Amino acid sequence: MKTCVFCRIIRGELPSTTVYEDDELIAIRDIQPQAPTHILVIPKRHIPSLMSAEEGDVEILGKLLYRARLIAEDEGLKAKGARFIINHGKHGGQTVDHLHLHVVGGKQLSLTLS
Ligand code: 5GP
Ligand code: ZN
Repeated sequence: MKTCVFCRIIRGELPSTTVYEDDELIAIRDIQPQAPTHILVIPKRHIPSLMSAEEGDVEILGKLLYRARLIAEDEGLKAKGARFIINHGKHGGQTVDHLHLHVVGGKQLSLTLS
């Protein structure tokens, strides 16, 4: 999508710190990290939200989750733990309407959801 910030990053129109890229996915460091490790794993195809995903997206959803798991290990988060987050919509706190999975870790995270 033309104005979508993640599509613009994927097209190389905006800078990012890329930690992984293949034909279907990109992973970048969050611009406002909430923990020592805060990475966004993003399908290159513009899917607006997890709640927009359809059966034909099952394969990319699996790849998204598995890539998040590999990145978490690369970041040294396997032993002490991490959080894998997908926000949806206003109440879920989604601010960028392009599906992405947060990999967050490197400190003790609180259980507060608000
Ligand atoms: P959401 O709240 O939609 O689940 O998460 C969006 C995330 O994208 C936020 O954590 C925000 O800091 C991050 N973000 C927004 N704009 C940019 C950007 O231009 N570059 C990077 N690297 N992260 C961004
Ligand atoms: Zn997009």
